[in-house]
Amino acid sequence: MVHIPGSQNIADALSRLDSSNPVPFDPEEELFIRQVAATAAASFALKWENIEEECRKDLEIIELIKMIRNGDEENMPLSYKVIANELCIVGDVLLRVDRIVIPKSLREHVLQLAHEGHPGMRMMKSHLRSNVWWPQIDQQVERVVRQCKGCSLVAAPNPPEPLIRKQLPDQPWIDVAADFLGPLPDGQYLLVVVDYYSRFMEVSEMHSITASETISELAIIFSRFGLPMTLRVDNGPQLNENCEEFREFCESNGITLINTIPFWPAMNGEVERQNRSLLKRLRISQQLGKDWRAEMRQYLLTYHSTNHSTTGKSPAELMFGRKLRTKLPQVPPHRLEDEEVRDRDAITKEKGRIYTDAKRKAKESDIVEGDRVVVKRMKKDNKLDTVFSPEEFEVVRKTGADTIIRSLGTGKQYRRNVAHLKKLETANVPESPDAATSSTHVNPQQVPETADETTSIETPMDEAESLTRRTTRSRNEPKHFKDFVPY
Ligand SMILES: [Zn+2]
Repeated sequence: MVHIPGSQNIADALSRLDSSNPVPFDPEEELFIRQVAATAAASFALKWENIEEECRKDLEIIELIKMIRNGDEENMPLSYKVIANELCIVGDVLLRVDRIVIPKSLREHVLQLAHEGHPGMRMMKSHLRSNVWWPQIDQQVERVVRQCKGCSLVAAPNPPEPLIRKQLPDQPWIDVAADFLGPLPDGQYLLVVVDYYSRFMEVSEMHSITASETISELAIIFSRFGLPMTLRVDNGPQLNENCEEFREFCESNGITLINTIPFWPAMNGEVERQNRSLLKRLRISQQLGKDWRAEMRQYLLTYHSTNHSTTGKSPAELMFGRKLRTKLPQVPPHRLEDEEVRDRDAITKEKGRIYTDAKRKAKESDIVEGDRVVVKRMKKDNKLDTVFSPEEFEVVRKTGADTIIRSLGTGKQYRRNVAHLKKLETANVPESPDAATSSTHVNPQQVPETADETTSIETPMDEAESLTRRTTRSRNEPKHFKDFVPY
């Protein structure tokens, strides 16, 4: 930041105080001023000059620089000796490759800066690691997060992250996803738009979430970043393909609107995941009585400048081709290596896919059109409810995992993901030993319960369930139906 002298600036109150007429000293006021100053000092950004200045005073760094100049790495403290070949000197500052070795006197300050907006441990470590280093930095990050009052209030095991099995788009802002978060305590909603390629996130505050309000917010966002090719949205009524106003907006802008299948948040996983992270930060600021808007902006800056665990690059780098300047000191940025990002993304996703498929014992579904199926309950009314509802359905249409089923009782049709269906074997087919494993295997322990977390609207399923409890004819149950209780 640049200092503008008072003569060229709007006068501030302090410069107009009349020193010829001293005010009596007030110890209480003095204490308050000191407190405010201390808080402000902790949030000051650090500059290269600050680092240089402190390095010149830091005995350890002075000693280390001397040892490097003399080729005396053998006598370095162990934590530096093991990385001696990565150490180098710029002026009076010690670097570990391209990261600044922060002198002891500034470490606490840097930790406080990196915790602004209450990022979690992993994000905070990653953010620091891209700019700075010192021995035992990770342990100190863990201490800061553990000792932070706000973070401890919301500390809860993170839910498993939904998988995204989607090919990486070719460029930033081609495939984006939108979702609403809220309502917040004062009735507002947040419109969250995430770019699949860069993971860059735009958040707008909205007071009403009608189609026309949403359209005008999206138009503002698109005016900054351009029109995407596809827009994935949750099945909220105002963003549905059945909403003519919204569909027309997308069509006229050449945007393909993709509605996700109900109860399958993995397709919209990126947005859901961001929403959970954001919500957590908003909860912290609410608990601490802070301004949630300010805290949210700080969190977003940290998020945008931190390497993403899947791509290995920060959202801003992939979105704009440059690193964002944050309060952490930085050495000049690298050139963007896009190829590496793609490889890493593909590798991470492939690994994840193999792992979960193995874990879920996933097999290609053998459900075909015309099959009789039962449907997994999305909401259990009580602990004794079975995993599958007893109502029987016929598969009317199936496109990939997207399945249309019709109730044999009421004749109503529903759209479901095939993973939530279980095929009913017909009575005249003899049960083979393989039957238990060859059908779509939905074990309640292996499939994460995601239904309760989604913001999807209620479908008529639950209503239909309670109205029509059909009598199921008796038959020999395959072993894997042992959790299925016929009425
Ligand atoms: Zn915190």
